[in-house]
Amino acid sequence: MTNLFQPRLLNGVFGDPGLFVRLRWERRALLLDLGDLTAQPPADLLKVTDIFVSHTHVDHFIGFDHLLRIALGRDRVIRLFGPPGIIANVEGKLCGYTWNLVEGYTLAFEVHEVSEEKIAIARFPCGARFERIDLSPLVPFSGVLADDPLFLVKAVHLDHKIPCLAFAVTEAERINIDPEWLRRLGLSPGPWLAEFKRLIRAGAPDETAVIAACGSATGERFREMPLGDLKEKIVTVTKGQKLAYVTDALYSDENRQKIRVLAREADILFCEATYLERDRGRATERRHLTARQAGLLAREAKVKELVVFHFSPRYQECPDALYREAAEAFGGPVR
Ligand SMILES: [Zn+2]
Ligand SMILES: [Zn+2]
Repeated sequence: MTNLFQPRLLNGVFGDPGLFVRLRWERRALLLDLGDLTAQPPADLLKVTDIFVSHTHVDHFIGFDHLLRIALGRDRVIRLFGPPGIIANVEGKLCGYTWNLVEGYTLAFEVHEVSEEKIAIARFPCGARFERIDLSPLVPFSGVLADDPLFLVKAVHLDHKIPCLAFAVTEAERINIDPEWLRRLGLSPGPWLAEFKRLIRAGAPDETAVIAACGSATGERFREMPLGDLKEKIVTVTKGQKLAYVTDALYSDENRQKIRVLAREADILFCEATYLERDRGRATERRHLTARQAGLLAREAKVKELVVFHFSPRYQECPDALYREAAEAFGGPVR
């Protein structure tokens, strides 16, 4: 089965953190964190529609300027989700430049500032010199950031001495059509299947009429069939892929509990492993995880695969030690 999500870590394990998630079959991508983006192909960056920022320490946010530069003349709205303070952070960055001669530019940023109780949204339209427009009212935060027909993004607030967001991106259930059953019913594939899948996703009642295209052998061109009947015969529903992204967090009971729930049974957990266990004191002081702690979290959350990143430069000579330590604690595959 080919996956919708094509995730790729940016800048290697020692560089600024970031995860680029290309959506296969779509001209679209998601970006988790905004570390240095200068090495990324502009064509990739131009596919980004939604950005999820864990926190605005410079190594997680400096890429905003580069993305802004690349996207400037484009006609699009880029949604950006981040922790408390993110609206002022984006405003501060945009205030750092002079914006005359941009009338007619249609790029806009829509910034969602996520606190534990609510989401505040502000819009920054380029054509109006990126002046901030606060959108009201505030939206209650229930754990879900983005509910797209293709995927769902959830977040929790972790303690990094400041609130830091961790994310889970889950693909919508996959609706697979059995071609053999389609043939047996005398139906042919076509655009009607997209509408059929849309009705299933929307939870339409079983008696809803579906206009199905027929194979040429039957003589008829279309046939009306009840959704429920058709679903029972030609559809199998499978769970979508799940990615979790956790970086910059203290190994506390509260953080562990939140990560366990967020990342539960993820196909891949991307988790920081900044320090070795021998430097655990330093990790705690800096509110970061050790490789062993990353492995334990992956085990507790029962994920299928662990990808570790955000290594401290002090381990330039021995990155293998971090992988080994994480794998030993996890007891599963580590990349
Ligand atoms: Zn940080
Ligand atoms: Zn960091």
